[in-house]
Amino acid sequence: MGDLRVGTGFDVHAFAPGRPLVLGGVTVPHGSGLAGHSDADVLVHALMDAIVGALREGDIGKLFPDTDPAYAGISSIELLRRVGELAASRGYRLLDADTVLVLERPKIAPYREAMREQMAGALGVAVDRIGVKATTTEGLGFTGREEGVAAHAIVLMERSRP
Ligand code: MG
Repeated sequence: MGDLRVGTGFDVHAFAPGRPLVLGGVTVPHGSGLAGHSDADVLVHALMDAIVGALREGDIGKLFPDTDPAYAGISSIELLRRVGELAASRGYRLLDADTVLVLERPKIAPYREAMREQMAGALGVAVDRIGVKATTTEGLGFTGREEGVAAHAIVLMERSRP
């Protein structure tokens, strides 16, 4: 067995009117999107933070500061691609990832496979290495009140060289 590392990621973005809702690299039809400096793709942000955590490279705020105008409105899938390149440059490959979106609406199931394909494509891994699930909080808390969306991610990485 190689040198295995785990990473976990968590992110939250608030709903904001007049923005597209981008989740897992997929624009999901909905009345409002998420507020943020980039495209506010909360799912991709959680996944990136999990990978960066496994690399022990700090967090995505360190890699892509939201004070840097270069990242204004940028596609988070593009940032995920860069995180994948960083991992490869450090000798890591992604063995497995699972994610959870926490939101009341919209329903995610119709978009799940497209999200998996988007994120797997950005990382250059097989689609079966990326899991996407969703849950509600039964109307409780900020996600239950539909004030925002949360996302969790966990990854298993293998380091092939020091
Ligand atoms: Mg974020």
